Amino acid sequence: MYHIHHYINGKTVEGQSGRFGDIYNPTIGEVQGKVALASKAEVEAAIATAQKMFPEWSATSVVARGRIIQNFLGLLYKHIDELAELLSREHGKVITDAKGSIQRGIEVVEFACGIPHLLKGEFSDNVSAGIDIYSMRKPLGVCAGITPFNFPGMIPLWMAPMAIACGNTFVLKPSEKDPSCPMRIAELFKEAGLPDGVLNVVNGDKEAVDTILTDPRIKAVSFVGSTAIAKYVYATATANGKRCQAMGGAKNHMIILPDADLNLVADALVGAAYGSAGERCMAISVGVTTDDKVADKLLTMLKPRVEALKVGPSLDPASEMGPLVTREHWTKVKGYIDLAVQEGAELVVDGRGLKLQGYENGFFMGGSLFDKVSPAHRSYKEEIFGPTLQIVRAKGIDEAFELPTVHEYGNGTSIFTQNGHAARTYADRVQVGMVGINIPIPVPLAFHTFGGWKNSAFGDHNTMGMQAVQFYTKIKTVTARWPTVRSGAEFVMPTLK
Ligand code: NAD
Repeated sequence: MYHIHHYINGKTVEGQSGRFGDIYNPTIGEVQGKVALASKAEVEAAIATAQKMFPEWSATSVVARGRIIQNFLGLLYKHIDELAELLSREHGKVITDAKGSIQRGIEVVEFACGIPHLLKGEFSDNVSAGIDIYSMRKPLGVCAGITPFNFPGMIPLWMAPMAIACGNTFVLKPSEKDPSCPMRIAELFKEAGLPDGVLNVVNGDKEAVDTILTDPRIKAVSFVGSTAIAKYVYATATANGKRCQAMGGAKNHMIILPDADLNLVADALVGAAYGSAGERCMAISVGVTTDDKVADKLLTMLKPRVEALKVGPSLDPASEMGPLVTREHWTKVKGYIDLAVQEGAELVVDGRGLKLQGYENGFFMGGSLFDKVSPAHRSYKEEIFGPTLQIVRAKGIDEAFELPTVHEYGNGTSIFTQNGHAARTYADRVQVGMVGINIPIPVPLAFHTFGGWKNSAFGDHNTMGMQAVQFYTKIKTVTARWPTVRSGAEFVMPTLK
């Protein structure tokens, strides 16, 4: 049994609140560690440390900051296997997938290495006689990140490196379900040369989050998690005068047109629906066909693939799907499968009863596959976040195209077809933030931006890319003249001369 505490001012600080959360090993279904849950005072201490370091860090040259990020990048590559293992042990996602998720986080750090270029402002020469205007991107102060359980490495890496590269100091509050990977990331940042106090990690629950959301020293909050909490975080942070970007839940549809290569579609659907046991905000959880004959054929191709999924221990490289994160989450996912059956969907493959020999107490569930799901079903409207795929048989292309648009979530979607016009029309019209064309999980690379629409994201800025730079900085514009002769006082509104 190990204990995870906090990381403040460059060292581990023992939790004093007397409150601890359980960290499970989902493969065996047992508590393997305890995580300290910070009190308000402990979070305030972390904020105070970050606040104290802000003048020094923001004054550090942008080139020097960029070099520390480059050192950090090297260390992440050196430790990628270790980070993936820490993550896989606590989250339950299979080790190969865990490593892939760290790699996607590393790509954001690669982007952050270019910070001297990214922070370049604008300059207008001689806008009036002898007057120049220039703008600078300035850091905000102390920024905070609150992250979900499903990407304990990648999502902290979306936030902290960009915020820090921009000259801010940072307080990270990771998910209490799998805190070891983000704690190790903070240590690697120190090893890379980051001064103590620039990045602080407080573990905790609602008490820690509420302290972050209301403390006036925090200037911006990046949140990723479920929609209910995202809405709350956005409302509370902005009511307290902070910038906030809050990413929420999802229900991602794949549209399958009759001309698509169904072998490709079946493989893409199985990977995108059941990878990471469906615990991905960009998982495809709904497949939409436009023609019953195509649906029948697709189902015959999907069924054996879902039944053959290799469910196993997260650290076994042969496993394709690991356990769910906690027993509580397992029960929630099972509840949705029960509900879908009651609502009248046809259960083609039932993953509820799966038991793994030798791991009977693990939080394992097989893949479930539903046909004839109705958009009126509650199990269709809500996010399940487990290894389930729901097939909806739309009556024609117009109805299929409309489904993701009218759904309350709008994170990602994809279309499989050989018809360029249809794909282009869909990408143009759909009310969803990220679209894949013959790509099942359209997570953009780090030099573009990531973010959903509607109830999948709140706030004006996405994460990653230039939007991250914009989120973590504010613009100052200077109008300058270096006069050689005195011109006397002017009382009219200045205009161009
Ligand atoms: P969650 O909302 O339960 O938790 C997210 C964070 O909020 C955690 O740090 C948690 O400690 C904190 N939190 C939980 N309850 C709180 C409360 N009542 N008050 C204040 N803070 C609270 O989400 P989760 O279960 O960890 O993650 C899964 C969810 O995240 C899914 O809905 C998934 O779609 C979503 N997600 C979205 C994206 C995206 O980019 N849109 C990416 C990954 C995950």
